[in-house]
This record gives sequence, structure tokens and C-alpha cells, in this order.
Amino acid sequence: MFKKVLIANRGEIALRIQRACRELGIKSVVVYSEADRDAKYVRLADEAVCIGPAPSAQSYLSMPAIIATAEVTDAEAIHPGYGFLSENADFAERVERSGFTFIGPTPESIRLMGDKVSAKQAMIRAGVPCVPGSEGALPEDPKEIIRIARSVGYPVIIKAAGGGGGRGMRVVHTEAALVHAVQTTRAEAGAAFGNPEVYMEKFLENPRHVEIQVLADTFKNAVWLGERDCSMQRRHQKIIEEAPAPGIPRRIIEKVGDRCAAACKKMGYRGAGTFEFLYENGEFYFIEMNTRVQVEHPVTELVTGIDIVQQQIRIAAGEKLPFTQRQIEMRGHAIECRINAEDPIKFTPSPGRITMWHAPGGPGVRVDSHAYTNYFVPPNYDSMIGKIIVHGDTREQALARMRIALSETVVEGIQTNIPLHRELMADAKFIEGGTSIHYLEGWMAAHKR
Ligand code: ADP
Repeated sequence: MFKKVLIANRGEIALRIQRACRELGIKSVVVYSEADRDAKYVRLADEAVCIGPAPSAQSYLSMPAIIATAEVTDAEAIHPGYGFLSENADFAERVERSGFTFIGPTPESIRLMGDKVSAKQAMIRAGVPCVPGSEGALPEDPKEIIRIARSVGYPVIIKAAGGGGGRGMRVVHTEAALVHAVQTTRAEAGAAFGNPEVYMEKFLENPRHVEIQVLADTFKNAVWLGERDCSMQRRHQKIIEEAPAPGIPRRIIEKVGDRCAAACKKMGYRGAGTFEFLYENGEFYFIEMNTRVQVEHPVTELVTGIDIVQQQIRIAAGEKLPFTQRQIEMRGHAIECRINAEDPIKFTPSPGRITMWHAPGGPGVRVDSHAYTNYFVPPNYDSMIGKIIVHGDTREQALARMRIALSETVVEGIQTNIPLHRELMADAKFIEGGTSIHYLEGWMAAHKR
């Protein structure tokens, strides 16, 4: 096992990784920007090194600064968390070339999955169900594009091969709008992602977002740890996640889960990963794979009892998975609410000083957050300041626990989306379960927001 791990991230996930290291008896080094000088994980770290000013490009995205810090602190491995450099194949490559272990998949896997066209082709080869669409990138010839759209059937969605974070997508309802939409998406994708390649998919009108968590070691063992329903989204940003996904027959999920684990074996995948799917009318359709730990990993941890971050570290250290698929059991129901420092109506960021922070507690309540009373939320980064995660024997009990937890939570000095979560936990449709990815936007409109 490693003696020392460098954490190349910030916020709640830096704290989460630090806790995992501590439990495994590993010392942790955190890197931080000038804006995060007073952060909790910086104070709690065994070692902390300031690597640059607030802008991410000069700190959390600076590969030379991070690798140099690993050198001077004698760290053996680097955990990238999520966001920042976590899905950057060049970074993984540079980490390994510099003699450190990258806690994540191989650069080849990251590269393959980072390009959505190659990812989808790999999934089709591995027998994972995908959204019907173009076979690979769209050709230049407008006539060909029109022919493909006709065979897929309208509406279609044009997506950038290099897209991410909900950007680089355009829905097309009619043939008249098609060629222009493809050209515009290409131009935007070229400018935003440095790759103008686009592909086409059938646009699913009312799907749910359901994803499968996987873990794979370097001995060709791979398992899936159940699913998460992350349909409650706004502008493609998830805000509530739960496990298991309400109302989907287990046999359908087991079939797709087994396919995901088999795909990992086939690809020689290692580490943690998530296969994201849209689910509609009893069918799963792969949309992308994330080659890192996800924000919403705790709901899976609560229902399986498996520490995903510790497993990532163990796999990177060359250990075998300590369980087989049969030994993985799911118990009860877990729900996560992402707490964002933002205006709950306009969704604009609300950085600043937290004058009062009180986190909830009690049976089945977990809070992953780096916030505290007097913490200053910097304006430079993502607005998420923590996550409240609850577990219950049933979905009903989990919902009740989340309502209590939210009612106990106090955050003063800045605005948060807690009022929105409180309303959603009392919403009849959410309580029923199984709402689609468009539900929240419709709900906001109906509530005149
Ligand atoms: P990103 O990497 O930007 O998150 P994804 O491919 O994961 O892109 O898609 C993000 C979101 O866009 C999905 O969660 C879904 O809401 C919507 N979306 C993507 N593909 C389709 C599709 N074929 N039909 C309907 N909605 C889609």
C-alpha cells in the first residue's frame, strides 16, 4: 500500500479522499490555491502545498505544479477526484511517466471514453445498448446527413464528440433545420473542445437518467455496484440522486449491469467508473462513461456498504477486488441532495462568507462537506458546498430522513438551494418516484420560477 498520496483537487472531494487515506493509514498531501488557504481539508491535511493563485488554470489545472509537488513531498500516487484533471488522459500519462501512480484508469481508457464517438463504438462492440443514431461521426455531405436523420427518425440530437458538462448539444425537430444545426454545432464544438466532430442520436423525449457504478481491478475482475437515478437535473446538472432507481424491474437493471461489468473486462478497464444511460419505456441507452469517481458516489456506498474511494486506492496499489459480484448486496434506499451556494430561484452563484453553518445528524444521515461557520465560499469554483446523503430501510424512510435532515440544516450568510430541496422532498411526483430528466424544468416553470 502507498505511504503517501497527493490529492489533486479541492472542496468536499478533497476531504472525502483525505478521510479514505487516513482510514487506510496513508498520509495525504493536498495542493491548494490561494483562494482555498483556509479550507478545512487544508487544515486537516498531513501536508498542504499552495500551488498558485485562485484561477484554476494556474492552480488545480496546472500539471507541472501538481507533479512537482508530488516530487518534493515524496508522494507515491495522485488521486484526481472529479472535475479538474480527473478525465485528462495527458495528465494521467504525465503522472505515470514521472514515476507516480495515477489513481484511476489507464490513459488509453480515459482517451477512449473521453471521445464520445469512440466510446459509443466501444460500447456497441461490448454489447452495451446505445441510443440509435449515426455510426460514428457525421460525414460532411449534407445529403448523407439528411439520409442518416431520416433513418434515425426525428427528433434527433446533434452532439459533439468532445463535449462534456451538458455543452455541445443541439436538438433538431425538422429536416429544414438539420444541416444548419449540424454546421453550428460543429463550429461551436471546434471552438469549445478543439474537436469539431459531431454525431447524431435519436432524441429521447422523456427519459430518466440512470447510471451504473463499476469497479475493476488489474486482474481482470470487474463488478457493478447497482444503479443510481439522477434524473432530477437542471440545465443537465444533477441536483438529487438516489439508489436504487425507483420502479425499474431488477431483471432489466441486472442485465445492463452485467453488460457494463463485461465491457470493463473486455476493455481492460481499471478503477472506478460510471456508465451513464438514458432509460425510457423499459430500455437502457448508453450515453457516456465517466472514468472517475462521481459526485453522487455516496448513495452507492450507503446501499452497498462499499467504500468506493478506498477501493480506488486499493486497486491503484495493485490489490485484487475483495468481493465477487455475488457478494455484493444492496440494502435499503439512499438519497443525496447537492447543496449549492446559489440563488434558489435564479440559480446564479452566491459566493461569500458563511456566517452560520449547522449540519444535520442522526441515524442514517451523512454529510460530505468542507463548509463550516465562517468559511468563505470562493467565487472561483463550482458552487457545490456539500452533500447531504441519507439511508433508510425503504425509500419512504429515506425520504423522511432527508426531510428531517434538511429541516435541521442551517446555512446563513449566503444563499443556497436548500429551500428548493425542501420543496422537492414534499413534491407528490418526486415522492411517487420515476420522474424524467425534464421534470424539474417543468416544475420550475409551473411554480413560475
Ligand atoms: P455531457 O457529457 O455533456 O454530460 P451527455 O451525453 O451525458 O453529455 O448528455 C447530457 C444530458 O443531455 C443527458 O443527461 C440528457 O439530459 C441529455 N441528452 C443527451 N443525449 C440525449 C438523447 N439522445 N436524447 C435525449 N436527451 C439526451
